[in-house]
Amino acid sequence: TVAVADAADDHAEQLLAAIKQYWGYDSFRPLQREAMLGAMEGRDCLTVLPTGGGKSLCYQAPAVCRDGMAVVVSPLIALMKDQVDALTECGIPAAFVNSSLTAQERLDVANRVRSGELKMLFAAPERLVQPRTIEFLREANVSFIAIDEAHCISNWGHDFRPEYRKLNCLREAFPEASIHAFTATATEQVRQDIVDQLDLRDAEVLVGSFDRPNLLYRVERRSDAMSQIRQVIDRHPNESGIVYCISRSNVEDTAATLKTFGYKALPYHAGLEAEQRRAHQEAFIDEKVDIIVATVAFGMGIDKSNVRYVIHAEMPRSIEAYQQESGRAGRDGLEAECYLIYSGRDINTWEFLINQSDNEDNRKASFAALGGMERFCSSVTCRHQQLVGHFGQTLDHTTGCGACDVCLNEVETVDDALVTAQKIISSVYRQEQRFGADYTAQVLRGSRNKKVRHNKHDQLSTYGLLKHESEAVVRGWIDQLLSQGFLKRSGEHSVIVITEEGNRVLKGDVTPSLARPKTRQTVQSAADKW
Ligand code: ADP
Ligand code: ZN
Repeated sequence: TVAVADAADDHAEQLLAAIKQYWGYDSFRPLQREAMLGAMEGRDCLTVLPTGGGKSLCYQAPAVCRDGMAVVVSPLIALMKDQVDALTECGIPAAFVNSSLTAQERLDVANRVRSGELKMLFAAPERLVQPRTIEFLREANVSFIAIDEAHCISNWGHDFRPEYRKLNCLREAFPEASIHAFTATATEQVRQDIVDQLDLRDAEVLVGSFDRPNLLYRVERRSDAMSQIRQVIDRHPNESGIVYCISRSNVEDTAATLKTFGYKALPYHAGLEAEQRRAHQEAFIDEKVDIIVATVAFGMGIDKSNVRYVIHAEMPRSIEAYQQESGRAGRDGLEAECYLIYSGRDINTWEFLINQSDNEDNRKASFAALGGMERFCSSVTCRHQQLVGHFGQTLDHTTGCGACDVCLNEVETVDDALVTAQKIISSVYRQEQRFGADYTAQVLRGSRNKKVRHNKHDQLSTYGLLKHESEAVVRGWIDQLLSQGFLKRSGEHSVIVITEEGNRVLKGDVTPSLARPKTRQTVQSAADKW
């Protein structure tokens, strides 16, 4: 064991010298040392680090230090050129193969592989698993294989890609080379799936902390999206930020509206010409504009460390997606704000999109993930705690994290939660459990609208019981009861029905915890404190 420890120390020193020489870094980030030693010593491993944790260096540094050439699998064809250019600039011989290359360019790469000159070869998964490519690479001196975004191999992940499945041939095709999988987002289930699918030998699994203590999380129901968005942007004048929307049209609209208000913003989505996407991305990275308004197509692999805020104008489809997208804020370790605006309509949008899939397993997994996201939004426990909890970790904050709306007491809990919940649940009962959340809120608020009068619900004993509360507040409470399982949605019209637990509330046996959804004023004052 002494000899092994010495070898590890030697390797670590060699790695430190390399990251200093090529990248100018002075030390390892958490788990980088362990992950790099795995690659130096040829042990299969899976490394799970949050976005910004420094995964790329975990394979780049050992690739430089070891003899031979490392093969890096990445799904992001569009980014390979950038990655290779960046390495070349550091003085590291690297190349890529994907469908964008001409026959001549492919030949050039093949020659560079044959001559043993390359330290790193990036390959798209579908290209790598072609028998010709494997045959060719078996002749080369492959030191190890790194698989980036490894969660793409799992049905349970949030970004399943069928071409990743075929990577399961690598273990057998390259018995001499170790395999190193990397991902930012893996639950226990996804982790196991990655190890199984890739058939990793005796895999070492390294899991970093998922907490991002420098990020401040806030979640708010949508009331007036544009003013909510502007309020966040105005807290960060002249700083870089990303605004995520679900649809391309909403991206366009939001970017255009921000421009009319005088903000420097550009849209980004897959419907734009490649040239334009690139130009907008560059304008953002070079800080010619402050704000990029984007669909989820933006961000994967983009290395901009000083993003000071990420706004979700609409709810993402899963906690994994949220963690990854919001994680693009504050990669430099300095404070940054993650602000999420949601409404029931976002849930309907995602349900619609999920139902487009004809794979039943995928649909099930997506609905479960969506439910998790919905609970995250409407719950009233520490956001940091909830996020790390999703990845099987816990935080030992006794006095709150100090960096989320819940712990900062921006979310005001309701004193008479039992009575309030009873009012809401009895209204659902009196309406015969045949109506949706918005309508229920209208009845409770004593709305005079046509539908309410037509149904004679203005004659219910629960009519107007919450007439002193705003629409957003009552809707928020209904969401909280839904997320805590006292009510549930049912059927394709999403009518609200009472659960077993909900009946216990009516009897006074359990008390839900309800929070008063924030109004704009309360957020602002708490923000000043922060
Ligand atoms: P990930 O792929 O895990 O999201 P990256 O590999 O893109 O993260 O790294 C995030 C940022 O951290 C990059 O700007 C990278 O240059 C920087 N970085 C990585 N490792 C170190 C280190 N040991 N010291 C300083 N900066 C680092
Ligand atoms: Zn907290």
